[in-house]
Amino acid sequence: MNSLMWFRQDLRVADNPALLAACEFAKKHQGQVRALYIVTPSQWAQHDVAPIQIDFIERHINLLAQSLAALGIALDVLHLQWFSDTHTALNEYLQQHRIDAVFAGSEPEINERRRDAQLIEHGVPLTLINQDCVFAAGDVLNLSGDMYKVFTPFAKKWKSIASQKAILTVAAPTPVAAALVLPVNIEFDCVKRSSQQWAAGEGAAKRILDQFLVNQVADYQAERDFPALDGTSRLSPFLALGVISSRQCVAAILARYPEALVDDTSPAKTWLNELIWREFYRHLLVAFPRLSMEHNFNELGDGIVWRNDPQEFKAWCDGQTGYPIVDAAMRQLNETGWMHNRLRMVVASFLTKHLLVDWRWGERYFRQQLIDGDLASNNGGWQWSAGTGCDAQPYFRVFNPMTQSSKFDPDTSFIKRYIPEIARWSIKDIHEPKSVNVNDLFAQPDNQGYPKPIVEHKMARLRAIEVLSALKRG
Ligand code: FAD
Repeated sequence: MNSLMWFRQDLRVADNPALLAACEFAKKHQGQVRALYIVTPSQWAQHDVAPIQIDFIERHINLLAQSLAALGIALDVLHLQWFSDTHTALNEYLQQHRIDAVFAGSEPEINERRRDAQLIEHGVPLTLINQDCVFAAGDVLNLSGDMYKVFTPFAKKWKSIASQKAILTVAAPTPVAAALVLPVNIEFDCVKRSSQQWAAGEGAAKRILDQFLVNQVADYQAERDFPALDGTSRLSPFLALGVISSRQCVAAILARYPEALVDDTSPAKTWLNELIWREFYRHLLVAFPRLSMEHNFNELGDGIVWRNDPQEFKAWCDGQTGYPIVDAAMRQLNETGWMHNRLRMVVASFLTKHLLVDWRWGERYFRQQLIDGDLASNNGGWQWSAGTGCDAQPYFRVFNPMTQSSKFDPDTSFIKRYIPEIARWSIKDIHEPKSVNVNDLFAQPDNQGYPKPIVEHKMARLRAIEVLSALKRG
């Protein structure tokens, strides 16, 4: 009897229990193992998957094909358009290769879950295994058996479960057959944008993790908010594709800092918490499927009357708001496909509060650009920023871009890297761009070619508090 490993958000051979299960099944039944990846350009376009992320996936599929060939496993790539095409195509594939069992990692998003549920309902022998989180969604619950709606108690429970059992990773499978001839280059027929500025592969991800834990994690708490510093791991593109697993990250933390789960003074505590935020948002997506459908977590958010000015939205997307910290951040996103976490919070607050543009517009734009685009974390981050989310920033807390700028890029070196046209401005002028009259939005650019602020901070803050008071309870 033959088996199939269907790769989705787990593009790795190490710590991949579904791949191991496929190998064990074939071994037990003296059959063969194949592997499959399905490309769905129309579905991805509907999900706003960024062209840079598609390129990063394609590179990883080629690397994965090589790793699997060394293990004697052939990787096939099916080109479909939509998830709804999967049933027919997969059945044909299973018949063609006489496959009796399919193994895959579970996914938290609603369309992916519906697709899998339908396949199982129609008799596809699909076994789903949790491997995108350390604990499966539904395994970290409060005393009433419900998903937490606040991060801190979720994290506490997560850590208490983690401290009761060893967090163990599984090794890559041993070869199931003689090594195969190296596969030909696989190309996706999709719109792509080069991701070459990012290293790729399981080895690269593992090296980044190891180096981060040796050299940087102890300074993470102090440095993580400063975009000019190399203070965070930049592992998010790899975690989003499952090139490395969160379990591998947590196991590596605990191997080096065994106290991190219980000791608040552990150097690795803050970084571990960020990985738990990722788990929190993924568990939330499963517990509240409406989050995958762009609904406000807090239904009071449905009463917000957004301004949604297309011209201001475009200025935000293009990094032309006249607020250097916001614009440098957006240019970092547009140029590299990645943005520092502090800046994600700054630009999301600016869009939803200063400009009163619906968080869904920003969330979608992020997905279209990010190499680490991930529905759960993106939705969580946007709704947190807008005040509509679970355990969100209160609606009346409006980030002051001037304060954020002087606090987190004090010497303006990050801003100048992305806005060379203001490199000669004084530090004070960069942090506090000269405001324009509220009625004079989109004033003529000044003589350095950089626009004046498109909105005045004090007015915008008061306006945001008034409009977003729709979120006030009771
Ligand atoms: P590190 O600081 O080194 O953290 C390690 C890992 O922990 C990250 O790779 C990530 O997997 C996880 N993590 C860190 N911070 C968070 C967080 N706040 N929420 C959830 N997980 C976190 N992250 C994404 O992976 N994809 C997204 O699409 C995404 N969109 C976001 C949108 C907004 C508005 C905000 C505020 C945050 C968003 N984040 C997103 C979370 C966070 O900004 C990124 O994970 C982080 O900047 C990635 O950089 P890093 O790998 O160096 O993180």
